[in-house]
Amino acid sequence: MTTTNLPVSSAHRGLMFVLSSPSGAGKTTLSRRLLEADERVTLSVSVTTRPMRPGEREGRDYYFIDDTRFATMVTGGELLEHATVFGHRYGTPRQHVMQTLEAGRDVLFDIDWQGTRQLAECCRGDLVSVFILPPSLTELERRLRQRAQDTEEVVQKRMARATDEISHWQEYDYVIVNDNLDEALVLIRKILDAERLKRARQHYLDGFVTKLCAGRTAS
Ligand code: 5GP
Repeated sequence: MTTTNLPVSSAHRGLMFVLSSPSGAGKTTLSRRLLEADERVTLSVSVTTRPMRPGEREGRDYYFIDDTRFATMVTGGELLEHATVFGHRYGTPRQHVMQTLEAGRDVLFDIDWQGTRQLAECCRGDLVSVFILPPSLTELERRLRQRAQDTEEVVQKRMARATDEISHWQEYDYVIVNDNLDEALVLIRKILDAERLKRARQHYLDGFVTKLCAGRTAS
């Protein structure tokens, strides 16, 4: 009897998994928990021109760079997408993403709707996008204040921008209302698992099925 070994994960092309939401909807916590729970996922660490916040670390949360370096990266084609948010520039370094996908690993992006739209233009086949909604704007404001990282002025700006960000929810493949972090994480993992099983992403299947059927004919 012919035995067929199921393929290793490197036979699967990695996918680009985007989580977007207004600040305070739980996206950063969900990203962190997903990375802890699933070793096949790698975070895309963005570059930004905004100042580092307390508790943040260079290379883990962002690469903190100045405007000149950012402009050089844009003109040199080093960024897969980039956008201006709250007056600061943010972008996704291209090389790390491409190498990770080719190695069969999935890449997680914590980016806004502008970046997601650009990824949809360049890489639709690899992209899976999820929008996280807060249960209410009151809850969103409460969470922003609880973080206590931002000044009152910044909180008000983020609240104003939240409505703008939310207005793009229909551009996403999936939408989750985050009123419970554990449940939201379960849903995110279900989406990821199902997307990994899409026929088009299981590149080894042609060979696998041929071998499977050959084994049947031979026996
Ligand atoms: P924060 O400054 O609070 O870390 O992020 C502000 C917003 O910028 C968030 O919505 C975050 O998802 C978005 N963002 C972070 N990195 C990138 C990036 O590389 N590209 C884009 N388009 N948005 C980003």
